[in-house]
Amino acid sequence: MLPNKHIKKLRPYKAVPHKAWDIGNTDGVLKLDWNEATVLPSPKVRKDLESFLSSGRLNWYPNIRNKTLIGKIADYSQVSAKHVQYFAGSDDLHEYIIGAFTEPGDGAIIVSPTYDNFRASAESKGVRVNYHNLTKSFNFQPTRLISQIKEAKSKLVYICNPNNPTGTIVETDEIENLISHCPDTLFVIDEAYYEFAKKSVAGMAVKNENVIVSRTFSKAFALAGFRIGYAITSAENIEHIDKIRNPKNVTTLSQIAAIAALDDVPYMEAYVGEVLLAKKLVCKTLSKAGYKITSEGGNFILLKMGSATKRKFIDRLLNRNIFVRDYGHVQGMEEYIRVTIGTREQMKPFVEEALDFSHD
Ligand code: PMP
Repeated sequence: MLPNKHIKKLRPYKAVPHKAWDIGNTDGVLKLDWNEATVLPSPKVRKDLESFLSSGRLNWYPNIRNKTLIGKIADYSQVSAKHVQYFAGSDDLHEYIIGAFTEPGDGAIIVSPTYDNFRASAESKGVRVNYHNLTKSFNFQPTRLISQIKEAKSKLVYICNPNNPTGTIVETDEIENLISHCPDTLFVIDEAYYEFAKKSVAGMAVKNENVIVSRTFSKAFALAGFRIGYAITSAENIEHIDKIRNPKNVTTLSQIAAIAALDDVPYMEAYVGEVLLAKKLVCKTLSKAGYKITSEGGNFILLKMGSATKRKFIDRLLNRNIFVRDYGHVQGMEEYIRVTIGTREQMKPFVEEALDFSHD
């Protein structure tokens, strides 16, 4: 059977191999390649999962409307329950957004470079994607974007804030201004790294039908393996998406884990605080040693180096089971490495290797 014409010509999202999984254990492994948390989730997550495992109901389908979870997400996001819905990760939410709000042939604008999965999902459904290219120093230009949207009559705009991989932060009032200038365009604001920058348009998303905020438990809450994220938007938009959402897809274990994580927000906040301290320290130490660093929002930084040097550096890190993300495959980012930031203690071997390498 032949795939449809969109799939035939689709450039897939390039998920780089998760080499750390091949090692078989976590001893001495420093996984800084996928922007996950570098620590385990709150101990309450494990405790609640363990008690569920021995309480029966493993054979039941998951709760398809977990009011406790919805209520806790709403409280945490400071919106009311009718404005939130949970999904099997924000990637899953993005697919539903494309399914519910676009038609083949519609135009979308995506900030570039950014997290590429949204582009691939959109193109797979026949959406035509154009780019709002960030400047050389990765700045966002809202006025130019407004002209682009008007010119192309774009149906949808995807902005990741803070942006992965550049860390670019767009100020809330700039996004709000953009949204109010383009009432016929749906803005998907991906706040996967919200906890690390605390800028959000959630307040605007509940009042305006042309904004959907997506967030995840995969980063600050340390639940990447559970696959759970959520939307904040108008009650009407939640209803539109619910028409196609498969409510069984968020597993019982994920729902329990997310509730437990939200019961221990201080644990998450302490981790975020530690990561921000570590980020400052890593940047200070490495820039003193001559590294070219880009660092703004998020739990990650970018290092810039010539391609051959970069290859040597990555190989050297790999020898010590330190995994970082090579951006060699992304146009305009060929000379960059993205490094997830963990705790100060965890970052020591990475900094040690980087300093040693700079003396070579
Ligand atoms: N959005 C951004 C900006 C991301 O960086 C990532 C993960 N790399 C995701 C979404 C995916 O999130 P989730 O695990 O909730 O699907």
